[in-house]
Amino acid sequence: MATKDDIITLPNDHLRQRSKKIGLITPDVTKLVAEMEVATLDWEDSREHEVGVALAAVQIDKLYRVVVIRNNFDDKKDRRFIALINPEITKYEGEMKEDFEGCLSVKNLYGKVKRHTKVRVKALNIKGKEVRITAEGFLARTFQHEIDHTNGILFVDHIKGNEEAFFHLEKDGKLEPIDYDKATAGLWPENEKND
Ligand SMILES: [Zn+2]
Repeated sequence: MATKDDIITLPNDHLRQRSKKIGLITPDVTKLVAEMEVATLDWEDSREHEVGVALAAVQIDKLYRVVVIRNNFDDKKDRRFIALINPEITKYEGEMKEDFEGCLSVKNLYGKVKRHTKVRVKALNIKGKEVRITAEGFLARTFQHEIDHTNGILFVDHIKGNEEAFFHLEKDGKLEPIDYDKATAGLWPENEKND
């Protein structure tokens, strides 16, 4: 079974690739979902101040369009997830709002990212049945973040060049602003040569 060590982080360039669509939901897909859930919970158990809210398959280096999202964001003890296969956003609604976002594949860095406050999502559930979800608030943000992953996009890409948008997670669990150059060293291929 997967562990937190299977989670890949930047600058691994697999995170920049588009994941493949799932054709049939085979036992391999079911197993992939289980591994994603186990890896997320293992990561969460190793972190003091954070919750493993969601994960895309690419984050355990399986480039398929599969995401798992925590059943209940407000109750850490609820360790169930909802799995979505080939999820896509069919409509962006609401205003754009800035809020903090983190990622299991971007270590200790948080960003203030502008997202739509409401989205409509179409996907298959684990049984292959089409589901349509209207999400608002933090769930809408989570969908946008995870579906970005299936397209090789990370939250840091939305705040590239924004000197005020990067934050560091301190040991006491507080988010503190971090120097832009320090925060972004190595995040994008052209930054790798920089110090
Ligand atoms: Zn992420």
